[in-house]
Amino acid sequence: MRIQSSSAPSTRLIYSYGLAIVFVSLALLTSLALQHSFGNPFWFFFSIAVILSTWFGRSGAGWFAVVCSGLAVIYFFTPPLRVFAMKPSDIPYFLTFIGCEIGVTQLISWRRQAEDSLRRAHDELEVRVAERTADLRNAHNAILQQIGEQKRIEENLQVTRTELARVARITTIGELTASIAHEVNQPLAAVAANADACVAWLSREHPDLVEARAAAERAAQGATRAAEVIARIRSLITRATPEKSIVQMNQMIEQTVALAAAQASTNNVTIGLELSPDLPHVLGDSIQLQQVVVNLVMNGIDAIICTTDRPRKVVIRSSPQSSGQILVSVQDSGIGINPEVMKRLFEPFFTTRSNGMGMGLSISRSIIEAHGGRLWAESDGSSGSVFYFTLPSEFAV
Ligand code: ADP
Repeated sequence: MRIQSSSAPSTRLIYSYGLAIVFVSLALLTSLALQHSFGNPFWFFFSIAVILSTWFGRSGAGWFAVVCSGLAVIYFFTPPLRVFAMKPSDIPYFLTFIGCEIGVTQLISWRRQAEDSLRRAHDELEVRVAERTADLRNAHNAILQQIGEQKRIEENLQVTRTELARVARITTIGELTASIAHEVNQPLAAVAANADACVAWLSREHPDLVEARAAAERAAQGATRAAEVIARIRSLITRATPEKSIVQMNQMIEQTVALAAAQASTNNVTIGLELSPDLPHVLGDSIQLQQVVVNLVMNGIDAIICTTDRPRKVVIRSSPQSSGQILVSVQDSGIGINPEVMKRLFEPFFTTRSNGMGMGLSISRSIIEAHGGRLWAESDGSSGSVFYFTLPSEFAV
């Protein structure tokens, strides 16, 4: 029977006061009906009418019920009956009745107010919880969106890295032109010489078929070797997607050294190898890993070029680690890396060389990290430097 606070004020008023009239009338009728059996039961019934009116109609209706009850008591229950008058001796008794009714209405309206404010606080709390929940949901959605965005950025970055790696490979190939020419020219010269020899053996008055055959076979071997060199160079510059396979690191290092040999000898640099025979295999992209070693060796040769006061040497070492990884190092006796350069060494586009791109080391690091390894450098700043990288062995992957 709660009066909705949203209803119009006039309707609410009529409802509250009407309710008070109904309760007081019921109390009056019940009191009159029970008057002869129980004396004066109006104390009880009018109090109930006041309580109900205050509770359901608020304090205005409560006060109205007190007034109506007072009038009813004067008219029906205090002599002289059926007139609005009373004997002076009944006044204290009547005032006590009214006082009690007022006390009851005050008590109930205070209780009602307390309950109303509790309900309001509860409603406000619910609204606030709903707002907070909506905020949290929005934040959650924003985070999901950010994660999606981040993923897209990472995918784009990966595409860019692959593209940059290809560009850097091409650059490295540019630096290795002399080496390529040397590598391809040798077998081609051998092919030409052996073909000539073959023709000569066959052109004799009594052709020597055994010698001619041997020369033809040597020519074929030379051609195969030239094709292999070309295939190796091609695999370095194609845009192949990285493919993981078993890589024999020592063998790959030896191939890399063959590629850099001409560049090294032109600059009077020797390349030494100290490769552990017990090196476990690695699971990785052999072309990318070869690119890392090529970069490190070429950087080492570059660092030695302008030195004159020390042995001109690059040493590549490999060894197994107790952690199940392999460690490869490329040490050079070049100019070393001063602390300023060391801080920025792996930054993309950082270079101290007039014709450098500054991509070699940053790409090398991302390749090694993509294989689950680590790449770092050490140098005392003046007498050469050592670049290290680790890779998980085939069994540790
Ligand atoms: P780039 O070779 O195109 O300059 P890198 O990323 O390979 O790009 O190298 C960045 C810079 O790091 C080089 O310019 C050079 O200053 C320094 N650096 C790299 N390797 C060596 C090294 N072995 N000795 C001394 N400095 C080096």
